[in-house]
Amino acid sequence: MGPPSFSLSDADEYKSITDVGQRKKDAEEVMFKKLLARAGYSEEEAAGLWEAFFALETEIAQASIGNAEGASADIRDKAYNPKSAAELAELSPDFPLMEILKPYTDGGVDRFILTEPEWLAKMNELYTEENVEGFKAWLIYQTLTGTAGMLDQECLDIMTEYSGAAVGNAQMELPTEQLAYEMCSALFDMAIGKLYVESYVTEETKRDVTELVNDAVAVYRQRLEENEWLGDETKERALEKLDTLKVRVAYPDDWSLYDYSDYALPEDGGIIDDILAVREKAQSKKVDRAKAEIDKDLWMTAPQTVNAFYQPTDNSINIPAGILGGDFYDPNGTVEQQMGSLGIIIGHEITHGFDSNMGSLYDKDGNLSNWWTEEDRAAFKERTDKVGAYYAGIEVLPGKYVNGEYTIGETVADLGGMSCMLELAKGIDGFDYQTFFESWAKVWKLQESEETAEYMLQIDTHAPGYLRANVNVQQFQEFYDAFGVEEGDGMYLAPEERLSVW
Ligand SMILES: [Zn+2]
Repeated sequence: MGPPSFSLSDADEYKSITDVGQRKKDAEEVMFKKLLARAGYSEEEAAGLWEAFFALETEIAQASIGNAEGASADIRDKAYNPKSAAELAELSPDFPLMEILKPYTDGGVDRFILTEPEWLAKMNELYTEENVEGFKAWLIYQTLTGTAGMLDQECLDIMTEYSGAAVGNAQMELPTEQLAYEMCSALFDMAIGKLYVESYVTEETKRDVTELVNDAVAVYRQRLEENEWLGDETKERALEKLDTLKVRVAYPDDWSLYDYSDYALPEDGGIIDDILAVREKAQSKKVDRAKAEIDKDLWMTAPQTVNAFYQPTDNSINIPAGILGGDFYDPNGTVEQQMGSLGIIIGHEITHGFDSNMGSLYDKDGNLSNWWTEEDRAAFKERTDKVGAYYAGIEVLPGKYVNGEYTIGETVADLGGMSCMLELAKGIDGFDYQTFFESWAKVWKLQESEETAEYMLQIDTHAPGYLRANVNVQQFQEFYDAFGVEEGDGMYLAPEERLSVW
């Protein structure tokens, strides 16, 4: 349990605003005022509501954790504060937190993780008579922005225009059919997921990808066993973690865990009534799950999601069906194509299990616990610091560099993923390295405006796509051999300067 998201996405923007933040703020103001006009407020009222809303957010942000700290290793301990309902009630004498949590406490849930105690203290300080207008404005903002996409075309257009302006000059207009799909997919994620899988993913793909995951794990096991900079104790724990890694590929084996048959929509309701009814039902299911035993077979993400991720709290890698298509995976592609795209991503996710700001802080059961000796942690840091420093020296836009520290978890994971697949390639006769590297480059091709690039540089924990392609290949001799890259060429890096972590 923690603060809701800020309109400027990052609490630090309210402490010292950046160009990116200013663009977003301007876009927010235009959007909110237009929605208020659509809802019948006068220009003067709209101006007052925007001001009150932003002033309250600014106050809340002063006691909230910004993105930079949120991505650091220290945050994991700091954000882990288990509390009983009684303890929470005591910490929140004025702000009606317990009213908000009532569905959970009524349902018998008595253990909450408070991620930001300072934020909660601040909410109590702010929840006074003088700030009533601010809280009202905040609620109006949430209600309007949360429902605008479902009202009429005019409101939808306001939101679309805003999304484009907020990241800088981007075209965000989507076909109505896609919007409808996305709404259904968000509300009935696993039901839509089942339909998606029936249309787009075969059992064979699930089997093939699972096999690729198992191959990657085997390479990792061997590399950990042969690792020369980790002590025996840490090494043993790392191997344990690898052996208990939970793997979820494509879709769940048991669909019966996700049942919507008890969902009922109100008679003669409009879309808002329907959505409220669905959300309420989803909430009560969440309460049931919070009370139940932890079920590690349960999927946390819908199969149609185009993403892959490592989940430290249950030591799992998750490769949903949505990423098993396009440039990420071609079921009929060659082994080099598959290893150069999805293969590296699988290796990337496994590496997250051992990365510096997340995976390495959780043990094999997903508990926050330090399983490293101090010495090994220092040796690890020395290697990852080198990666961070290398990226920090890259100028992406005039005067704008990669944030080496903020991106460290991802850049180290990319390196680990590629090194893992290249190790696997050693055992394959006649492996076509050119195709392998080209496959990786294709994954990261994209076109974007300069403003969007600047925006992403600031908020994304990943390095920009072209660097994910280029910097990674530069670290491996196989790349130099495959394309005949030599000293004096633009992408040449001397062997002693090349990065290596795992
Ligand atoms: Zn990642």
